Amino acid sequence: MSHYWSPLVHRLTPYVPGEQPKLPGLVKLNTNENPYPPSPRAVAAMQAELGADGATLRLYPDPNADRFKEAVAEHFAEMAITPAQVFVGNGSDEVLAHAFMALLKHEKPILLPDITYSFYPVYCGLYAVDSIAIPLGENFEIRVDDYARDNGGIIVANPNAPTGNLLPLTEIERLVAAHPQSVCVIDEAYVDFGGDTAIALVNRHPNLLVVRTLSKSHSLAGLRVGYAVGDRVLIEALERVKNSFNSYPLDRLAIAGATAAMADKAHLESTRRAVMASRAALTAELEGLGFAVLPSAANFIFTRHPQHDAAQLAAELRQRKVIVRHFKLPRIDQHLRITIGTEAQCQALVEALREILG
Ligand SMILES: *Cc1c(COP(=O)(O)O)cnc(C)c1O
Repeated sequence: MSHYWSPLVHRLTPYVPGEQPKLPGLVKLNTNENPYPPSPRAVAAMQAELGADGATLRLYPDPNADRFKEAVAEHFAEMAITPAQVFVGNGSDEVLAHAFMALLKHEKPILLPDITYSFYPVYCGLYAVDSIAIPLGENFEIRVDDYARDNGGIIVANPNAPTGNLLPLTEIERLVAAHPQSVCVIDEAYVDFGGDTAIALVNRHPNLLVVRTLSKSHSLAGLRVGYAVGDRVLIEALERVKNSFNSYPLDRLAIAGATAAMADKAHLESTRRAVMASRAALTAELEGLGFAVLPSAANFIFTRHPQHDAAQLAAELRQRKVIVRHFKLPRIDQHLRITIGTEAQCQALVEALREILG
C-alpha cells in the first residue's frame, strides 16, 4: 500500500491467473490450454507476416483488424454474420473488460452466477459495477428462471467455468428474450468442446453479445486473440471504449495467425474431437477411482473425491509433477478442475492419482 496509489487501486482485488510454471517437465493441466498445436496454416501465416527480416513490424497493425473480422464473419457465414457485427480484442479478457465498461455499467446491478469465471467480479471492482450473484442449482446448473429480476445486464459463461456445465441454446434464448431491456453477455470460451453457439441467435436479439476466444479451441492462448459477435449497435459501443483505450489491441502476428486459424475449420474439428474423446476416457477412468465427475462440455472436468480433500490431492499431484486447479472458494473447495491433456498427459494424471489413493 502506498499513498501514491489511487483510492481505486487500494480497493482492487485482482484476478489470480493459474500458475505458468518455470519448471520444465510438469504435466500442466491447470489453465485449460489446448494440448495440441495450433493450425499449421496459422503458424505459416505468422512466419510469412514476420518475413526474413521482420520489416513489417516497423509499421503499426490495422487498428480494426479487418481481415480477422472478415474471417470471423466467414466462419459463421451460415448464421449470416457480417464483419460489422464483430469486435476483436487482445484476448477475450480484454473484450469482456470493454463489455463491462461499454454495456454492463448502468445504475442497476448486473446478474451473474455465484460460481463462474472469477474475472467477472474483478471487472465489477475495476469498473465499479454492482452485481448480484445468483446461486447455481444443486448440480451446479444455471437456472434461467432465477434471473427473473430487475438488472443492469447479465453475464454467464456457457459452458460455465469452472463447472463445464452447458445450457442448451433454447435456455440461452429464453434468458436473452426475457431481458430485452438489458444486455446479455454469453461467454463461449469453451463452446467448441460440446455446445451450440448463441451466435445463431444474434440476428434475432439486439441485446445479445457472444464473447469468444482463440485461446482454448484454437490452441492460441499465447497469441491473445478474442472477439465478440452481436448487433452492430453493441459493437459500436465496444469500439468507442476500445478507441478510448488502445487503438491497436491485435498486433500484426496476431491478426495474421488468427485470420488463418479461423479459416482452418478442419484443424479445429480434429483437435476438438480429440479433446472430447480424451474427456470421455478420462471421466471413465476417474469414476473408476471413485471420483464424482460433473458432466462437461468444456476442455476440462470438474471433479471431487468423496474421501479425499481436494487441496491435499492437488498438493500431492504437484509433488508428482502434475498440476491441476483448486479454487479455495465457497461451495467448490472440495473440487478440482482438470484440463483435458493429451492421452499421455491424462494417463500420467491417472497413474499419479492411483498412487496417491493407494
Ligand atoms: C480462458 C477464459 C477466458 C479468457 O480467454 P482469453 O481469450 O485467453 O483472455 C474468458 N472466459 C472464460 C470463461 C475463460 O475460461
